Amino acid sequence: MSMDRREFLKLAGLTCIGIGVGGAQLLVRSRIASSEYAPAAEGLQANRWAMVIDLRKFRTEEDYDKLIKACHYIHNVPSFPDKYHEVKWLWKEDFEHSFPEQKNRYLPEGIEKKPVLLLCNHCSNAPCVRVCPTKATFKLSNGITAQDYHRCIGCRFCMAACPYGARSFNWVDPRPYIKEVNPEFPTRTPGVVEKCNFCVERLSEGLRPACVEASEGKILFGDLRDEGSEVRRYLAENFSMRRKPELGTEPAVFYIIGGGEEHV
Ligand code: SF4
Ligand code: SF4
Repeated sequence: MSMDRREFLKLAGLTCIGIGVGGAQLLVRSRIASSEYAPAAEGLQANRWAMVIDLRKFRTEEDYDKLIKACHYIHNVPSFPDKYHEVKWLWKEDFEHSFPEQKNRYLPEGIEKKPVLLLCNHCSNAPCVRVCPTKATFKLSNGITAQDYHRCIGCRFCMAACPYGARSFNWVDPRPYIKEVNPEFPTRTPGVVEKCNFCVERLSEGLRPACVEASEGKILFGDLRDEGSEVRRYLAENFSMRRKPELGTEPAVFYIIGGGEEHV
């Protein structure tokens, strides 16, 4: 289901006056600010936001880690000492687990050992959206898969449905585990699912996603429906892959892995 911000706010308004599923739970959770989806007159606009990650340009651990740090700081993502409680919006994974269908014993060593930067794919045909019983996760008209912490009842159906492991659940209170709280973004509470939001709050302020900015050209972000956009040009000139294309989820995150010259 696609929904623009106006429709979303209407739905959120109904919820706040007590109409809808799980009212008491939602009221408790309404303590979390919902500035992420507030309407903005200004801001970056697209018909279909998409990302292109050029892994050929990632050469050191720092190339990955500084992006993860930027994302996790801005979004108050906690760092739990216990891996079982891990919450992640942007993370790295080995090639084999990122692209299992591409694994074969003859892959160049440089590709096989290359870490891949992972995040929510903001799939056009998102299974997480279809299974959510409270519409806590939904599509914005610009293609972003949004998540409203107020409406999340913690059933974790979306986590089971996502074939990319892009969602995390707050098993315990995450707030004591945030290294440095960013007051500009809401913190979450136990029992809520979260994930990358394509920096929707930054887009509405006219800013590109934090990971894109920190990447210094290694990640591109733009309108997939605009033939003249940088992402379209880059995809036309470089061979790209998406994760698990056979599932038909239509991810909006593209990867340039290797096997050719960089064309900028
Ligand atoms: S990657 Fe997972 S969480 Fe993100 S839109 Fe696709 S199915 Fe949903
Ligand atoms: S787009 Fe924003 S929220 Fe998503 S991984 Fe990048 S910095 Fe994090």
